[in-house]
Amino acid sequence: MFRKILIANRGEIAARVITTARRMGIATVAVHSDADAGALHVALADEAVRIGPAPVAESYLRSEAIIAAALKTGAQAIHPGYGFLSENPGFVADVEAAGLVFIGPPAQAIRAMGLKDAAKALMQSAGVPVVPGYHGENRDPAFLAGQAAAIGYPVLIKARAGGGGKGMRLVEDPADFADALQGAEREAQASFGDPACLIEKYVARPRHIEIQVFADAHGNVVHLFERDCSLQRRHQKVIEEAPAPGMTEPVRAAMGRTAIQAARAIGYRGAGTVEFIADGSGSLRDDGFWFMEMNTRLQVEHPVSEAITGLDFVELQLRVAAGEELPFRQEDLRIDGHAVEARLYAEDAERGFLPATGRLTYLSFPPATAFTHGPVRIDSGVRQGDEITPWYDPMLAKVIVHAPDRASALARLASVLDECRIAGSTTNAEFLAALARHPDFRAGAVDTGLIARELEGLTARPPLPPEAPALAALAALDLLFPSDDPDPWRSLTGWRGWGTAESHVVLAHGGERLDLRLRQLGPGEFAASSPLGETALTIIGHRSGEVRFVSGGVQRTAHPVAGPGRISLFLDGVKHDFSVPDPLSGGTHDHVGGDAIIAPMPGLVGPLRTRAGDRVRKGEPLLLLEAMKMEHVLTAPRDGVVAEVLVAEGDQVGDGTVLLRMEAEVG
Ligand code: ADP
Repeated sequence: MFRKILIANRGEIAARVITTARRMGIATVAVHSDADAGALHVALADEAVRIGPAPVAESYLRSEAIIAAALKTGAQAIHPGYGFLSENPGFVADVEAAGLVFIGPPAQAIRAMGLKDAAKALMQSAGVPVVPGYHGENRDPAFLAGQAAAIGYPVLIKARAGGGGKGMRLVEDPADFADALQGAEREAQASFGDPACLIEKYVARPRHIEIQVFADAHGNVVHLFERDCSLQRRHQKVIEEAPAPGMTEPVRAAMGRTAIQAARAIGYRGAGTVEFIADGSGSLRDDGFWFMEMNTRLQVEHPVSEAITGLDFVELQLRVAAGEELPFRQEDLRIDGHAVEARLYAEDAERGFLPATGRLTYLSFPPATAFTHGPVRIDSGVRQGDEITPWYDPMLAKVIVHAPDRASALARLASVLDECRIAGSTTNAEFLAALARHPDFRAGAVDTGLIARELEGLTARPPLPPEAPALAALAALDLLFPSDDPDPWRSLTGWRGWGTAESHVVLAHGGERLDLRLRQLGPGEFAASSPLGETALTIIGHRSGEVRFVSGGVQRTAHPVAGPGRISLFLDGVKHDFSVPDPLSGGTHDHVGGDAIIAPMPGLVGPLRTRAGDRVRKGEPLLLLEAMKMEHVLTAPRDGVVAEVLVAEGDQVGDGTVLLRMEAEVG
């Protein structure tokens, strides 16, 4: 076995490989771009080498820099992860020429599967069923239109160099063929530098079912059952599961046999996936699936197969690459339970799944294992405080559940997603949870069109419950958590007998301004009025940042998280983001920047709590402002020293008046 390996990747997959290597006693070397100098995978590895600036072409795709890093650190082998250089036969050749081991298939196997047209021709000759279509050399548009007519509409135009759904067009009407072909060729040229396309019959109610295979250098090839990846958006996988709903033993055996045949035909070694398209218009049939392509690497969704087989695929990859035999035969393998994976992304499902960026000001997952088996496994490459940059794929984590049966797995997935709480960026957690609860998905009625058909319902936001802005406003005012500070001034910011005192808070939600009036009726008892209506709330307890409250006779839990200028409130599995344009809530957020305390509205300055030169702590009361029968405690936005107090008790001040200044922060 290797003593030391280098991982030529980033994010969760690099962390995943490092975790297994460490368990096996293998030392690890990470590589990183400048943008990733502080990333999780770098922190986890024994050693790390910088390979260039943020753009992937100048870092993670620089094979010579990666090979140099391996040689410099004495790594004996390179694990490519997925994406980047993982399916680049030239890289494999360079790695081997440098005297290192590539943890993956031989270059010629990658090359054989690299272009979809050549792969299909090869598979056809190996007796593997392929989707009927044209995959020859002729690129004349009129000829191709003739081929499409012969195949029969609907047809799918695919870039032969394609991947990630790029350069793909579904054509239902022959009149649209010419335009679609041009579009696909343009996209293929732009994405892959190769405009050539093939044409396939579009399979009705298509299901994407793939078979995991493993081959060693001793002639053993096995399959590790199937994964159903039919839940896709724009040909990209969203949720994957194993086994496939409705799979029967005869169809599984036929698909497994075919996948092994495909792997053998190209002299495969290591972990690979043979992707099939299956006719989902009825029950699965052993003559109703066709080869689409083979991915010659570890897949993003490999953990669902690990869960149902109890194996560690990275360990197997390392053993095979080191020349060992696979430690089992086909007949030793069994399926245990059901596993589902959801890809948690920084993206805005409501707004067309626009990739999102931002600093993850808060990140909390429910109890889970990471990079290893468990009923709830969350493989994440990011930590709280990390920045999601536009440089890389915005996947935040893979949420994987494993349960005795499919129904329990889906129920578990939905509740786990409800508990993934991330502030600072928009995520698709709610979309994924809605998907996990979708009746068709739960019934196993999956096909690749499900998400598109149901998109509106899946991305619709539930109406804002009136408790949410009320709780956010209380959080902004620092009134959610009672202060146990005996100092009466401190307790002013906590719960006190305010009697008829009333506060006015302005929040913004989804671009709308929300004006709230809050009254405290008793300890922990509040009445809020907003354009959404009147709400009465009683706060009855709190624990590690979560608040238990009663509203309308029902007890629930809310979790407010304050970030710079905003409050994210997690309630009933939904995140509600509010921005707090009102500087009055300085004690709970930092957007004031800290130097000036500004009157949020015209008012009368009440008793002062601080003098110039005082050292104050974040959240500490600085002065009281009375305005329109409301009293507002203005609190310190950060730890620091009061530089000057610009007003005196009894002063009448205008909206926006600077009341007090803090000394600039040092360092
Ligand atoms: P890429 O390499 O770009 O991911 P694939 O060939 O793997 O492209 O296809 C991606 C997805 O497109 C499949 O998972 C499936 O949903 C859909 N698809 C591909 N070929 C067909 C087909 N012939 N009929 C129907 N759907 C297809």
